[in-house]
Amino acid sequence: MPTGFLTHSLCAAHEMGSWHPECPARLSAIHDQLIVSGLAPFLEHIDAPPAPLEALIRAHAPEYVEYLQDRAPKRGYLPLDPDTSMNPSTWQAALHAAGAVVEATNRVIDGSLANAFCAVRPPGHHARPAAAMGFCVLNNVAIGALNALEVHGLERVAIIDFDVHHGNGTEEIFEGDERVLMASFFQHPFYPYSGTVNPAKNMVNVPLPAGTKGEKVRAVLDEIWMPRLEQFAPQMILVSAGFDAHREDDLGQMGLVEADYAYMTERLLDLAARHCGGRLVSTLEGGYNLSALGRSVVAHLRALARL
Ligand SMILES: [Zn+2]
Repeated sequence: MPTGFLTHSLCAAHEMGSWHPECPARLSAIHDQLIVSGLAPFLEHIDAPPAPLEALIRAHAPEYVEYLQDRAPKRGYLPLDPDTSMNPSTWQAALHAAGAVVEATNRVIDGSLANAFCAVRPPGHHARPAAAMGFCVLNNVAIGALNALEVHGLERVAIIDFDVHHGNGTEEIFEGDERVLMASFFQHPFYPYSGTVNPAKNMVNVPLPAGTKGEKVRAVLDEIWMPRLEQFAPQMILVSAGFDAHREDDLGQMGLVEADYAYMTERLLDLAARHCGGRLVSTLEGGYNLSALGRSVVAHLRALARL
């Protein structure tokens, strides 16, 4: 079975101003590196459908979804938080970003894909139940996880978040929900200044200081995440794949390189093979140095496709 690569052209139509690091060029940088690396022909390319509204309101308040739908500007920008705004294409981009993760979970569960990566924006892991935050509008990974749990009837889903920032939105949606085990590391102290105290037993948060390199991150994965994940025995793994812990990324101050992303991906795939027939769906979060982002996504995808 192939590895899926899901995206949609509208995900590049969302933009928040030419100065903003969360920019459409992130997706073209990924696309360019897929071509240069020779990886593109080995992936199943899928146009992401829009998520149905009922999928969104599993993770978000209906009033928030209505607000986004009604307030989408005809021109210019509508600010949603100090770092996040909507342009005329943002609502459609967000629907396709969430829809990519829903479609990927559907296809991995029905067995037509081995695993999948969603190259989408806006990202999702800071999006709260009723508020946009930190470049994020809809919580794509949470919407995908709830699709796996509530539509497909899975009982245990693991969410792994290796973005340099704490996935506070995902944590807020799932804290205390024992169907989900969320494992993450993040730079601390750092935006969004949350996550240092595990709020519930189903959160495995590992704050790390600025300057942390791959060797330490690999040890966190092997020694802290893995025992909990093995015990949890997930029926599917979702990954909030942010690449801003890369040493070349100026939005974080950690020291990962492409080989560290490949290592984490391989270990998570091994876990998936032991517990859930390899079922894993990954979705793009951060990653703002365009070259490092493209190279890191290639390392992640090469591991997913076992090439
Ligand atoms: Zn981030």
